[in-house]
Amino acid sequence: MSEKSILKKILAGILGAVFSSSGGLPAQESTGKPSIPYSRETILDSLRKMNRTPEKIETVHAMCYKMAMPPKTIEYSCPKCSERTTYPYRGFAGAATRGMEYLSRLASTSFNIATDFSSLCKKCNSSGTEEIRVSLHCQGCSKNIEWSVSTEEEIELLATFFLEYPVKEVDLTRLSFNLRNSDKQMTEAEKIRELSKYIHSKVFCDECCVKFPLLEELPMKEDK
Ligand SMILES: [Zn+2]
Ligand SMILES: [Zn+2]
Repeated sequence: MSEKSILKKILAGILGAVFSSSGGLPAQESTGKPSIPYSRETILDSLRKMNRTPEKIETVHAMCYKMAMPPKTIEYSCPKCSERTTYPYRGFAGAATRGMEYLSRLASTSFNIATDFSSLCKKCNSSGTEEIRVSLHCQGCSKNIEWSVSTEEEIELLATFFLEYPVKEVDLTRLSFNLRNSDKQMTEAEKIRELSKYIHSKVFCDECCVKFPLLEELPMKEDK
């Protein structure tokens, strides 16, 4: 290995460590090249498999390094007006600010997901609502789908739109799914099933969710 490539490796390692300790989001390789669009069938097939046979999906539990002494605050710097807004490091706005750079890359996935963080700027947004506006085109009819993310749990879920299809492996480390099942611990299979439902409901509009259901009628003769 040349000196240069060793240095590169070390640098990559440092950058990786910095990111994983500060972001709280799974590290994502950035290749720079836009990913190949997946066909509707590939996505549906994969989501249905995750739903029907979740035990066949590999689960990963990535090592997370907790920052020993996280800063108390983080500054959101507005790309539109350059105003700086200070937020507590922990909590939704802090997590959104930390994840902004990473989640903006959802635009170059095959789902072309647009993320809008402008509500985090105190100058641009006077309503006081802190949210991430998310939009993409329905995989069934291309209609625009929009929703807003306002919890730390869903920020983590947004990272699952980086998954490659067909999905073979899911990192469950930070996916809490506490929203619905607060009193009961979910099994890994249940989490994968829940994840496929979440993705399905977000990449298809309401009409297409009915048209292309996640749980389609099982064939009459099932080969076991
Ligand atoms: Zn602004
Ligand atoms: Zn649709």
